[in-house]
Amino acid sequence: MHLLYPQICFGCGTDQVENAMPLCPKCILDLPFTDFFSIDENPVEKIFWGRVPVQSAGALLFFTKDSLVQTLMTQLKYHHNKRVGILFGKLMGEAIAAEKKFEQIDLLVPIPILYSKMNNRGYNQSQVIAMGIQQVWNRPIVDDVLIKRSWSNSQTKKDRKARLQQVPDLFFLQNPACIKDKHLLLVDDVLTTGATLEAAIETLMAGSPASVSIAVAAYTL
Ligand SMILES: [Zn+2]
Repeated sequence: MHLLYPQICFGCGTDQVENAMPLCPKCILDLPFTDFFSIDENPVEKIFWGRVPVQSAGALLFFTKDSLVQTLMTQLKYHHNKRVGILFGKLMGEAIAAEKKFEQIDLLVPIPILYSKMNNRGYNQSQVIAMGIQQVWNRPIVDDVLIKRSWSNSQTKKDRKARLQQVPDLFFLQNPACIKDKHLLLVDDVLTTGATLEAAIETLMAGSPASVSIAVAAYTL
């Protein structure tokens, strides 16, 4: 089986990879880790200061152009390579499990994508990352509360005042009772401006969670 379907490391090309891993052990160690989960007032937390209430936040890796991290993200998002998401999630779960400040988290909430994208890709990449987290740090995943709004229904349902706003309502809330008084960990793939996560948190706040924290796989410098 190995000769027919060789598993090759995306970092260095060696076939010395552990089963179902997209990278060899050495390339995993060489990833550009931020260590943000263990750092209070880290750059990811600061992005949300003055915008929405965030309990704790962190990113696993630095994302730069033409890097191995970008290659892995492309694999996860466009080449049906779920193994990348599971690896990211496991590494995030290990980092999070080591921090007392995340102990209280009750539920993992992956940032949703549109059903149309879901059909094309076959999965939501943030959900796959959450599944990786769950493999090493067991918390339930909730994927029926935060729902991505399609462009068409966001246009028809908006009133004039909302239309004038810069940021459209990206999400809506369903089954809000599931998150009431719960400590949530929002899970996303790449963080750039934070606008998507900000919109998600604004929507989630309507369900009165106890707190919202953030875990992203990669943070754009
Ligand atoms: Zn390698």
